Amino acid sequence: MISRRKTRSVRVGSVVIGGEALVSVQSMTCTRTDDVKATSAQINRLEKAGCDIVRVAVPDLRAAQAIGEIKKRITIPLVADIHFDYRLALEAVRQGADKIRINPGNIGSGERVKCVLDAAGGKGLPIRIGVNSGSLEKALLKKHGAVTAEALAESALEHVRMARAFGFHDIVVSIKASNVPCTIEANRLFSRSCDCPVHLGVTEAGTVRSGAVRSAIGIGTLLAEGIGDTIRVSLTADPEEEIRAGWEILKSLKLRSRGITLVSCPTCGRLQTKLIPIVNAAEKAFSRQTKALTVAVMGCAVNGPGEAKEADIGVACGRGSALLFRKGKIVKKIAEKDILKTLVKEVEQWQG
Ligand code: SF4
Repeated sequence: MISRRKTRSVRVGSVVIGGEALVSVQSMTCTRTDDVKATSAQINRLEKAGCDIVRVAVPDLRAAQAIGEIKKRITIPLVADIHFDYRLALEAVRQGADKIRINPGNIGSGERVKCVLDAAGGKGLPIRIGVNSGSLEKALLKKHGAVTAEALAESALEHVRMARAFGFHDIVVSIKASNVPCTIEANRLFSRSCDCPVHLGVTEAGTVRSGAVRSAIGIGTLLAEGIGDTIRVSLTADPEEEIRAGWEILKSLKLRSRGITLVSCPTCGRLQTKLIPIVNAAEKAFSRQTKALTVAVMGCAVNGPGEAKEADIGVACGRGSALLFRKGKIVKKIAEKDILKTLVKEVEQWQG
């Protein structure tokens, strides 16, 4: 059982980050934000996949001005991602964004940062202060000699101190680097000194496979230590993949449950069934399910019956046939050709 670090709670639209709230799953759209139709369609697909909070890039005024129209077409909270130009943050606030993400290091003077904080504070919106290894302030780079965990944590702490000095307290902090040990250490250092809720991620993580592994190690290590209140898995892929990977991380640590947890054997020389295509097809068939359920698909009699019994629904394969289990009890024997069909039917019955 993971004991989570106590953080302040911050409300982002209908979702709370920090405090007692469950760890939320985030993603970012990859459409042009000023293409309202495409962006809101992608957000609605992300919501169906399990996205709690979505972020959109705001590179220019047209993107900022599109936020109001996008908000009318979606239901999950929307975060505006702003770099360099503080006026875009002001417009995003006007348009009804639920949170503003800025990197104070590239927004410019303290006065400009204060303008953004005042605008957000006036509407009760939180700010995410995002510190990124690629845009560390020059003074800190000089002081630490390189992008180190200490430098990243110091940058985040300094930004929080400045925001609080301006009377702004609804802050979420992220410290991201593409170097996983550096990300882990920087977040540990920061979390020892500050009670702001933390958004976890490994930046520029990579493709579906390598990025998900890197993120699972970076995000998973911190979550297992009780650090982290919201997560985003960054992948060079369709953002729905980010949501799937994020949920797998949370499910693995028993921090949240959703949809089908598929347990399947790695296969070995004892296998007498064509198991891999069955499992892949089952994973695809179950991808839209939302109710938490464990399904085990096992290859033979060695671990098969044991795992199949532990799951809500299980099959333990033999030669040309399999035993179907429901909550640990054998229900019937099924032919190999009917395994997938039977599993899909069983899951649908459970989902109601
Ligand atoms: Fe091999 Fe059977 Fe274990 Fe699958 S369940 S890995 S087939 S021993």
